[in-house]
Amino acid sequence: MCSEVTCRELLTFLAEYLSGALPPARREAFDEHLARCPECVAYLNNYQAIIGLAKRAAEPLPDEVPRDLVTALLAVRAMPSAIPPGPAALPR
Ligand SMILES: [Zn+2]
Repeated sequence: MCSEVTCRELLTFLAEYLSGALPPARREAFDEHLARCPECVAYLNNYQAIIGLAKRAAEPLPDEVPRDLVTALLAVRAMPSAIPPGPAALPR
C-alpha cells in the first residue's frame, strides 16, 4: 500500500483538501496523516484561521492567494530553527 501522505504532500494539497476537491481515497489518507501529525494539524488550524479572516474581510479569494500562503508557510517550515530535525521534518 502506498496511501501514506507526507507532510509536504498534505501542505501541497491543503487547499484542495479543504475545498473538498480531493478524491475520497486521498481525503482519507490526509485524515490518517492528520491523526498522527500534530504539526500538520496546527498548520491546518492556522491556515483555516487565515483563510477565514480573509474571506470575512473581502470577496472570495482568487486561487493565487492560498498558493502564496502555502508557499510562505512552507518556507517557514523549511527553516531549520523552526522545526527540529527528524523523520517528520524530512518527508520521504
Ligand atoms: Zn504532517
